Amino acid sequence: MTPKLPIYLDYNATTPVDERALEAMMPFFREDFGNPASRSHAFGWKAEAAVEVARQQLAELIGATPQEIIWTSGATESNNLAIKGVCEMYRDRGRHLITCRTEHRAVLEVCAVMEQAGWQVTYLPVDETGWIEAEQVEAAITDQTVLISIMAANNETGTLAPMAEIGKIAKKRGVLLHTDATQAAGKIPLDVEAMGVDLLSLSAHKVYGPKGCGCLYVRRRGPRVRLAAQIHGGGHERGMRSGTLNVPGIVGLGAAAEIAKRDMAADVERLGALRDRLDAGIRSQLPDVQQNGHATRRLCNTANLSFAYVEGEALKMKLSSLAVSSGSACRSESREPSHVLKAMGVSDALANAAIRFSLGRPTTAEEIDFAVEATVRAVRELRAISPLYELAREGIDPKRLE
Ligand SMILES: *Cc1c(COP(=O)(O)O)cnc(C)c1O
Repeated sequence: MTPKLPIYLDYNATTPVDERALEAMMPFFREDFGNPASRSHAFGWKAEAAVEVARQQLAELIGATPQEIIWTSGATESNNLAIKGVCEMYRDRGRHLITCRTEHRAVLEVCAVMEQAGWQVTYLPVDETGWIEAEQVEAAITDQTVLISIMAANNETGTLAPMAEIGKIAKKRGVLLHTDATQAAGKIPLDVEAMGVDLLSLSAHKVYGPKGCGCLYVRRRGPRVRLAAQIHGGGHERGMRSGTLNVPGIVGLGAAAEIAKRDMAADVERLGALRDRLDAGIRSQLPDVQQNGHATRRLCNTANLSFAYVEGEALKMKLSSLAVSSGSACRSESREPSHVLKAMGVSDALANAAIRFSLGRPTTAEEIDFAVEATVRAVRELRAISPLYELAREGIDPKRLE
């Protein structure tokens, strides 16, 4: 049976809102539309109570206390607030930041802004699997280092980071640690104590909540982290982020977080099996397929594959029955090879021939089987007309001809 087309396999770019989260949100668009900052009537109280329930739900997902959750418009804003807010607050401690070359642009671009403002930024390299060693982080720390920002899981390859080890080092050296956990949430257990992180960014629309909503965890004890606000106004969120709260969004994020925590073990097992089925199905039928990312220390739902001797854009066009991404989703209009794959030492040719398949809760085995078949057929068709593939099959290394 052919599944409904096109098949969505781009859940690292965004997810649909879970029906249960949507149900929870609806009253807050309608009859319960109050402003949680309205302290003098029942409309405000009801909205505030709902926001506080959500704060508790988020806190439970990451092992925090509710007072440590600050609502934002998403992970981009959370990353901005974390990095700029810490830099501004602690600038007397030094002017050095440590991050990684494979971070999301919502971290890299903020670091570039800090460089413009006179900060020094160390961009740590990764190995060919996208892995970063905690010792690299330790070696980069100087007496000027104020903050380390390392993502918990990479959006393009799914490769994880040794957060708990990095956390120990950060604590030992008295440096604050931020993590962009947008892709990790709901896919690996998150515990801010076990990871030793001081700030953590999340986004609702990557965990089956609505778009335009997210949060930042800000540690309150051991140490108490202070932030300079980046959005000023009525002093909401204890002065760290002003602006009337997105109540329906927050309620949806809270419900999504509760479901993510409850269903994570089952989701991980099911999605991992489907991802392996995709991986094995493609690679057993096609030679010269490279897997980008760590073989084991990676997210359960992500497969980033490079198909040698084909061109990524041509492949994506042929794969019009699949909604997948090539290169970095946020910049897929640009033909620049992904900065993540480049940092891993992937050649421009293979980086341009990369497809990211990311699976999600609605993904079915039928969809995976269809995707395998469509991919194998498309790659075979493109290779059949590829002069490079012809040469390679005759034993000539196409690189030597350049
Ligand atoms: C999607 C994503 C972001 C941006 O999140 P928004 O909520 O869309 O701003 C940041 N970091 C990572 C790792 C992401 O996957």
